[in-house]
Amino acid sequence: MEKRIPTRLLLEEKELPKHWYNINAVMKDKHEPCLDPITKKPCTAEDLSKVFCKELVNQELNFTDEYIPIPEDVQEFYKMVRPAPLIRAYCLEKVLDTPAEIYYKFEGNNTSGSHKLNSAIPQAYYAKQEGLKNLTTETGAGQWGTALSMACAFYGLDLTVFMVKCSAEQKPFRKAVIETYGANVIKSPSTTTSIGRKILEEFPNTTGSLGCAVSEATEKALSTPECKYVLGSVLDYVILHQSIIGLETKLALEKYGVQPDILISCIGGGSNFGGFIAPFVKDKINGTKDIRIVAVEPKSCPSLTRGKYAYDYGDTGRITPLLKMYTLGNGYIPASSHAGGLRYHGVNPIISKLYHDGYLEAVSVEQTKVFEAAVKFAKCEGILPAPESSHSIKVAINEALKCKQTGEKKKIVFCLTGTGYFDLNAYTAFNNKEMQDYVPTDEELQKGFSTIPTI
Ligand SMILES: *Cc1c(COP(=O)(O)O)cnc(C)c1O
Repeated sequence: MEKRIPTRLLLEEKELPKHWYNINAVMKDKHEPCLDPITKKPCTAEDLSKVFCKELVNQELNFTDEYIPIPEDVQEFYKMVRPAPLIRAYCLEKVLDTPAEIYYKFEGNNTSGSHKLNSAIPQAYYAKQEGLKNLTTETGAGQWGTALSMACAFYGLDLTVFMVKCSAEQKPFRKAVIETYGANVIKSPSTTTSIGRKILEEFPNTTGSLGCAVSEATEKALSTPECKYVLGSVLDYVILHQSIIGLETKLALEKYGVQPDILISCIGGGSNFGGFIAPFVKDKINGTKDIRIVAVEPKSCPSLTRGKYAYDYGDTGRITPLLKMYTLGNGYIPASSHAGGLRYHGVNPIISKLYHDGYLEAVSVEQTKVFEAAVKFAKCEGILPAPESSHSIKVAINEALKCKQTGEKKKIVFCLTGTGYFDLNAYTAFNNKEMQDYVPTDEELQKGFSTIPTI
C-alpha cells in the first residue's frame, strides 16, 4: 500500500531554514540593473542608500551568494509564526473529484493575515541596527502596513503608513489594526506631501493607487531626519526574504517524498510568488526538473499577460529608480478591485526576466471567477482566503479539473498568501451578486503605456 501523505506536512523548529535563497545568484542571464531616475545610470549602493537601509541595499545588489544568512534575531521571531503549514487539500480534491494531488502553503497564520511579515521583520531589524528612528511605507490592501506596524512595534520604531485611499475606505478595520500597533496612517493621495497635492490637483476624485502612495512615502522619507523608506514588494531583497516560503515548502515536500509538477501563486509586485518559487528556479533553469511555474494576476491589472517589458518607474510620481520590468505604465491607475494587493502596475525585475526568458507562465483571471473559487475552497478547507490568494486557488482548481479530464495524478502546489477577514465587503458584494468584472480595453492600456519613459 502507498504511504498516506499526512494532511499537514509538518516541519520541526530545528528544520527551519537558517539562510534565505537568492535567485539572482543562480540566474545565468541576470536582469538589467535599476537606473537612477535622474542620471539614468545604473544605481550604485550609494544612490540607493539615500532611501533604503544599507544592509537591504547590499542584498539588493548581491548577484553572487546563493544563500544569505538570516540574522539570529529574525530567526527567533520567525519561530513564533513559522514554519507556515503546508497542507494537503484532501477535502478540496474530494469535492473536485480529481486524481490530482493539491497542496497549499498557508501564509496567513499571523495577525497581518499574509506573508508580508516575512519581510517586515528583517526590514525593521536592519533599520534598527542602522540606528534609524522612523520608517515610512505605503500599503495597498493593508496587509503590508499591518505587517510593518507589527515589526516596528516589536523593534520600537515609529512608522508612517500611506494607505491607498480606496483601501482605507473599503477596510476601515485594517487601519484600526495598524493604529493599534502604534503607526500613523495617512490616506493617499494626501495633502501632506507635494506629490500628493500635485496628484490631487490633477485628479481630484482619484481613489489612489500603490504608485501614488509609493511616491508620497518616498518623499516623506527623504524629507525626514533619521527616516528611511521601506517597501513590501517589487524589489529583489523582498523576494529574498520571502524565499523562506519556498525553502520551507521544498523541505517539507522532500521530507514527505512529493515531487511537485506545478507551482502556482498570485502576483502583485511579485514578492510571494518570487519567494515561493525561489529554491525551485535553479532546477528549472538547468532543465533538471520538469516543473511548470504559473503566475496568476487579475484581469483588471494584467502586468505580465498584457504589459510591456521596459524600464519604468516604480511610482506614479516618477521619483523611484527605473526598473526593467513588465509594466502597464507608471501612470496606469487600475480600476478599484477587491484584490488590493494585486493592484500594481509593474512586476519585480527577476520575475519579469524569468518570464521574458520563457521559464514562467502567466494567466489572468476575472474577479467573480476568483470569488467562486474562494467560496468553494472556504467551504471545504476551513480557511477564508484573501481575494489575492484566491487567484491561485482558481488556477489550482482549473489545473486539477484538467487532470480529471486526462486522469493524470499531477501534484499541484500553490501558495495561499493570506486570509480574507478584512475583505468581507468583497465577500458581501459577491454573495449579493453585486460584484463586477473589469477588463481594461486596449485603448485604456495604451494610456498607461504612454507614461512609460523612453530611455
Ligand atoms: C500583498 C499581497 C499579495 C501580493 O503581493 P506580492 O508582493 O505579489 O506577493 C498577495 N496576497 C496577499 C494576501 C497579499 O497581502
